[in-house]
Amino acid sequence: MIKPIIAGNWKMYKTPKEAEDFALKLKKLPVYGDRDILVCPPFTAISCVSRILADTGIYVGAQNVFPAKEGAFTGEVSPLMLKDAGAQFVICGHSERRQIFKETDDFVSEKVKAVIEYDMIPILCVGETLQENENGETFSVVRRQLEQGLKNVSSDMIKNIVIAYEPVWAIGTGKNATPQQANEVHTFIRSVIQKMYGDVASSIRILYGGSVKPDNIDSLMAEREINGVLVGGASLIFESFTRIVDFNKLM
Ligand code: PEP
Repeated sequence: MIKPIIAGNWKMYKTPKEAEDFALKLKKLPVYGDRDILVCPPFTAISCVSRILADTGIYVGAQNVFPAKEGAFTGEVSPLMLKDAGAQFVICGHSERRQIFKETDDFVSEKVKAVIEYDMIPILCVGETLQENENGETFSVVRRQLEQGLKNVSSDMIKNIVIAYEPVWAIGTGKNATPQQANEVHTFIRSVIQKMYGDVASSIRILYGGSVKPDNIDSLMAEREINGVLVGGASLIFESFTRIVDFNKLM
């Protein structure tokens, strides 16, 4: 049985004070033994959120990283700095980074490697654009992003990776993939990892992301190959995030 993760990506929202207030509310949640909870605040709030959530079992992650220990990289943040601030996970290759900041598969693969080297867990995001979807290129795009994004990951390291399938046309648009569509792509993702790494593929967590909300979480989590979700907009509001955390599959 794969333990699911419910992950919140706060994007560029919440000042440290707002993040602190949210974390203080999260701290009062009951402990869930059957699922992991993760929040990814902006860089400026990682240390205060991780201090508040220490000992709760709720994980804290970062939304991005620069793949070098330190150096003349103005405006960037290193894996060492993230780890020291309390991050345990790092989102790599989010579609907003690929599209707005022109991150390539190659650069994403450097990030994945750097995150692993610092004993954090990368969440490698893959997913096709609307146009690629309409051209029937979903599987080829996702395959390329996986093969390239994981190219620095050895078979010893793969078991620690989390994959997030986030169709770009579903992110922040209110249009989610149907649970069946997502499940089909997740099945494909697992088969690609199986070809690359063998049976360990069956234990890799594959999350779905794209307009996950309280009213679609239960049907998404009912799908066999969906091992959790990466939630943007709905993770910013305490009540909607906690309803998503509380999905009823295992209860
Ligand atoms: C995301 O930012 O990863 C995301 C899936 O956003 P949203 O839930 O708002 O579509």
